[in-house]
Amino acid sequence: MSDQVKYILSEADIPKFWYNINADSPLPPPPVLNPLTLEPITPEFLNVLFPMDLILQEVSTERYIEIPKEVRDIYRIWRPTPLLRARRLEIALDTPAHIYYKHEGTSPSGSHKPNTAIAQAFYNKASGVKAMTTETGAGQWGTALSIGCHYFDLDLEVYMVKVSYNQKPYRRVYMETFGASVFASPTDRTEFGRQVLAKDPDNPGSLGMAISEAVEVAANSGGKKKYGLGSVLNHVLLHQTVIGEESLKQMDMAGEYPDVVIGCVGGGSNFGGIALPFLRGNLTNGKKTRLIGVEPTASPSLTRGIYAFDYGDTAKMAPVVKMHTLGHDFIPAPIHAGGLRYHGMSPLLCNFYNAGYMEAIAVHQLGTFEAAIQFAQCEGIIPAPESAHAIRVVIDEALDAKEKGEKRVILFNLSGHGHFDMAAYDAYFSGKLQDYELPQEEIDRARVTLPKVSMPA
Ligand SMILES: *Cc1c(COP(=O)(O)O)cnc(C)c1O
Repeated sequence: MSDQVKYILSEADIPKFWYNINADSPLPPPPVLNPLTLEPITPEFLNVLFPMDLILQEVSTERYIEIPKEVRDIYRIWRPTPLLRARRLEIALDTPAHIYYKHEGTSPSGSHKPNTAIAQAFYNKASGVKAMTTETGAGQWGTALSIGCHYFDLDLEVYMVKVSYNQKPYRRVYMETFGASVFASPTDRTEFGRQVLAKDPDNPGSLGMAISEAVEVAANSGGKKKYGLGSVLNHVLLHQTVIGEESLKQMDMAGEYPDVVIGCVGGGSNFGGIALPFLRGNLTNGKKTRLIGVEPTASPSLTRGIYAFDYGDTAKMAPVVKMHTLGHDFIPAPIHAGGLRYHGMSPLLCNFYNAGYMEAIAVHQLGTFEAAIQFAQCEGIIPAPESAHAIRVVIDEALDAKEKGEKRVILFNLSGHGHFDMAAYDAYFSGKLQDYELPQEEIDRARVTLPKVSMPA
């Protein structure tokens, strides 16, 4: 075992294939339903929103899907990302555990999201589309897709949740730098947005509403515009597997294999990206790595959501999928990890979670910031508040290993840096943040809003 801190791969080590867990999964994937009929969806319906290449990836059972040369070429700007060992954090915790992290905050937009944004823009361009539409909450996904669309010469309309639009003006400017048009959602540009505003002119917006607007614009564009989603879907998790594939090589350089892999979960893409190649090790190679997804107590879809078919968006226009959900009209509390506030979760991860192949933990906001600051002071990197959820559980695992006198190898995904989130840190330092536990009534309320699906579940 080496004494190194940083494990660096060369450009030649950028994966040439994405890994598709569906080839190795013992679990049949649940069907995806048409939101109008609640019958299994057809590729033609999906094709209104997505190019055919991405739809084929969504349902593929091919184990390895080749990454197009044009996409790898752009990946070279920041990939492979470094893997680091958090030695100073280990010392501060006085733990026998070894803590490694994959640093996805080194991408141009500062998170893992360009891994799929570049790929989605490429496939949209290749299908002859002129423009993409999307939503963004905290702004991470919109910034990533603005870069992707710029590289492949596509126009981009971003529907940004109104509270974030007002709280985070620099995210908008970032997207505009790459030529995107950004609108505060709900807008008066769509039928759905106008309906919401008529009832409530000051509606702060939500991710579910912004998705509805972006989907409506694409669906009514006569095929000129298609829609891109930054998480949740199978093809998004597929594109993110470059994180785990590189990590496997880097752990090998370190001469270790993780006992635990940890990531925060909003829609599940960064966690899926790092964890699925290790799940392959569990499924096909006798490994026994624990995989832990970490979510906020304010938006606890995996740990407390209902496992059922639900709409992907508030206006019931997006496909209906089987997932752990808080209800498609869920309006989350304004916690500062904006990227973890979606009402649902990747159906692929939910399937594995439900069958016991992965674990999930919900953590409170204050403990999360405490962990973020301890990590920052040891490692010199200010994490995104989303990533800090993972760090909370990493520290708890390292302390548990200490208590039990165990050597434990922990790997986590640092999904992004927090340089755009200083206002959230400021709120924490000035004592304005508090812990929030979603009341059970909220979850019970969601139950009545679920679509009545007569499918064998
Ligand atoms: C968007 C985002 C997340 C949450 O999304 P997932 O799809 O669950 O990965 C987590 N961390 C950062 C930094 C993000 O930008």
